[in-house]
Amino acid sequence: MREVDVLVVGGGNAGCAAALAAARCGAQTLLVERYGFLGGTATAAMVGPWMTFHSGSERIVGGIAEEIVQRLVALGGSPGHIADASDYVPTITPFDPELHKALLFDLMRESNVQLLLHALVVDTLRDPHGAVRGARFATVAGPRNVRAKRTIDATADAFVAANAGCAMLQGDERGRVQPASLMFRLSHVDLDALAAYVRRHPEQLRSSLKSHERNAANLTAVAGLYELWQTAQADGVDVPRELVSFFISPYPDEVTVNMTRVTDIDPLDPDDLTRAEIEARAQTMRLLRFFRERVPGFEHARIAATATQIGIREGRRIVGEYTLTAADVLEARTFDDAVARSAYPIDIHNPAGSGTTTHRLPAGASYEIPYRCLVPLEVDDLLVAGRCISTSHEALASTRLTPTVMTLGQAAGTAAALSLFDGVTPRTLDPQRLRARLIADGVDLRRPDLARA
Ligand SMILES: Cc1cc2nc3c(=O)[nH]c(=O)nc-3n(C[C@H](O)[C@H](O)[C@H](O)COP(=O)(O)OP(=O)(O)OC[C@H]3O[C@@H](n4cnc5c(N)ncnc54)[C@H](O)[C@@H]3O)c2cc1C
Repeated sequence: MREVDVLVVGGGNAGCAAALAAARCGAQTLLVERYGFLGGTATAAMVGPWMTFHSGSERIVGGIAEEIVQRLVALGGSPGHIADASDYVPTITPFDPELHKALLFDLMRESNVQLLLHALVVDTLRDPHGAVRGARFATVAGPRNVRAKRTIDATADAFVAANAGCAMLQGDERGRVQPASLMFRLSHVDLDALAAYVRRHPEQLRSSLKSHERNAANLTAVAGLYELWQTAQADGVDVPRELVSFFISPYPDEVTVNMTRVTDIDPLDPDDLTRAEIEARAQTMRLLRFFRERVPGFEHARIAATATQIGIREGRRIVGEYTLTAADVLEARTFDDAVARSAYPIDIHNPAGSGTTTHRLPAGASYEIPYRCLVPLEVDDLLVAGRCISTSHEALASTRLTPTVMTLGQAAGTAAALSLFDGVTPRTLDPQRLRARLIADGVDLRRPDLARA
């Protein structure tokens, strides 16, 4: 039995930001993760680049997220925020997942966050009134309990909240979730050769991405190459993706490919996960051949790495004090208790097959996420951060992006510590006091005048 002020379960980017924020507020904090490294989907599933820290030319994500980017830049693990020549978002932020893993350990040590790795949460501890008092983990030494005054569920699938009996939702109105994708990196690629091809064939890029015609010498995100892809599909390359899609990395000869797609999976069903991993790896080998044989500049490409696990875009989410909707996102709504901002569109990869639909905010707009989305209904002393906050299926397609989950983590960690020191529950914490602290800690919130110090 171990006792702490704040227990954070799940060491993805949301959980890491939560743990750093709680510890920096002065709470004795323990971060528990099932893998032997931190970073979650960004490292284990190798998903990137991070999108996006900007709305138009305005930076809308600061705080710990921006600190992580600047530290990665200093390590040579990221070029920082670069204009997205494909025009999908204002900026993208490529990063090296291996350096990100190392940096996250450094940050935890510097901020006195205790770590417990290789520990899988299996149950939630509750007091006689139902408030959460920590969690139970499976470890190599058998079960281990951690008691905590505040608990943050950053497991992406809300395992702690679900075990505590919180109301949950999953998927669209039919329960279907976005497809899963196994990411891989290709090294030994010649992007200049591809840029020359794109300059000769600008029509081969997604129609909304015409700025490639101007920027083809500076590729950042490639979406299209229709002719090459359709010919390959006609020749039997079996991957249910409508286009070629990859991103540059911090290194000139390496790209991150986001093309495998496994549909009709329940990410909470181990048999579905098994099928997805096997199918996605088979698709990866088909794609390696496709790139080598058909894409200019990729003749000598090698797989530099495949992700440790398939990337899960969507899983279970809590029902909280407020549920963010598609209208909130697309109408760029603001909230008095806002703790994060985003300008990422709602892009939904077809849960049933090929194709992706994108709905955008007005140009230069951003929406806000209220603190109440982090507070589960009824169950006390528990907060949720990251992918599993309270949203609709559509809104999640925007809030799940990495810069946003980092900001949500910082908000949850700060709220956990402040509620503890104020002697209130997270539910009754004054949101203006929380916002004041977040603004003081560099989070780019709108209307700072509303926040009470
Ligand atoms: C294929 C794909 C493409 C994407 N593309 C982009 C992109 O281009 N740009 C972008 O910004 N975002 C992208 N995203 C979204 C983004 O990467 C994720 O939504 C985000 O990283 C989720 O962060 P999180 O901290 O909420 O969850 P995670 O990063 O998943 O962290 C959850 C952590 O909890 C741990 N955990 C889970 N269960 C347990 C348990 N039972 N016990 C202990 N620990 C546990 C996990 O190991 C993990 O470390 C993409 C996602 C996917 C899957």
